[in-house]
Amino acid sequence: MFPIEKFKDIETPFYFYDKKVLCDTLQAINGELSQHEGYHLHYAMKANANIDVLRVIRDAGLGVDAVSGGEIQRALDAGFEASKIVYAGVGKADWEINLGLDAGIFCFNVESLEELSIINELAAAKQKVARICFRINPNVGAHTHAHITTGLAENKFGIAMEDMEQAIKTAVGMSNVEFIGLHFHIGSQILEMGDFEALCARIIELQDRLAAQGIEVKNLNVGGGLGIDYDNPDKNPIPDFKKYFDTYAAGLPLRQGQQLHFELGRAVVGQMGSLITRVLYVKQGHVKQFAIVDAGMSDLIRPALYGAHHAIQNLTSAEAEEKYDVVGPICESSDVFGKDEMLPRCHRGDMIALRSAGAYGEIMACQYNCRKLPKAYLM
Ligand SMILES: *Cc1c(COP(=O)(O)O)cnc(C)c1O
Repeated sequence: MFPIEKFKDIETPFYFYDKKVLCDTLQAINGELSQHEGYHLHYAMKANANIDVLRVIRDAGLGVDAVSGGEIQRALDAGFEASKIVYAGVGKADWEINLGLDAGIFCFNVESLEELSIINELAAAKQKVARICFRINPNVGAHTHAHITTGLAENKFGIAMEDMEQAIKTAVGMSNVEFIGLHFHIGSQILEMGDFEALCARIIELQDRLAAQGIEVKNLNVGGGLGIDYDNPDKNPIPDFKKYFDTYAAGLPLRQGQQLHFELGRAVVGQMGSLITRVLYVKQGHVKQFAIVDAGMSDLIRPALYGAHHAIQNLTSAEAEEKYDVVGPICESSDVFGKDEMLPRCHRGDMIALRSAGAYGEIMACQYNCRKLPKAYLM
């Protein structure tokens, strides 16, 4: 619950992170992980890299999935052990690879043969051996928004299945990389377990192909993507981790000694966060009534970027409901949080919560229109 009293004099907009929801979520995750031998979760920190949030996640024992050198550095600053960091990314710069090598991260998820040879070279210069997984594009679709599917042949990510054997043989022939497994990630905000089942089936097929050639896959990393209930954050504050991990347990039986890695982001942090904003003006248009709030797409871009919808609540009015378009102050027509929202009658100064904003919210904020970046409070 949002403690309105504590924040009544605080400047808006800001992110409020509910520590209890975060901790309950982490506890649910750890409860499920402990049911499965060989399962590891690397929190996908691109969802939310707030240092206070990262520290809570570190204390819960999770690792990190980083997608840039900046994220590797932030993870180290937050106290994550390098041995629990995995690093994916379609365009890793030399300094980013060097940072990962110096820190001694667990694994580079390699997305092309050219990248492989650069990692081999950079590791050789440091007389190190880099552990690598190949990110394979499994050509598995996900029932989610087109901008957040990543596992189709047309997407830029990963190495094509056809090229997998050649990539592995190349790596095995190099002296400064060690091939330790395969990586996949099919997309985000996935709520249909059938999508993950399809990935499992594809992985089994690929593993069998490799086994026939005597290639062992010690680690499988199935990425993240588990979605959250944006419509009902109070009813479903914690994603169904049991169903998620059980789907993998049933679909992907592990071989002797094999380790299974997950990279959940949104499901870990999405429901703990709200963007808190105040109503600046209520404007009567001729066809619409607008609640103009002080948060905009620069603070929370998901609605403008992928037509996402966050549940909207008026925290300070209990009057009869009216219909509003809830819009931000930014000079873009896409700066809209909700159309035809039923909200208790709004007045200037009312506090509004945009719920389920813990993932891909604060971290995507920008300064468009020379705005200040939103602050965040974890409590
Ligand atoms: C974004 C991303 C994730 C996390 O996705 P979520 O939908 O937030 O769980 C995991 N792995 C990789 C490689 C990613 O790019």
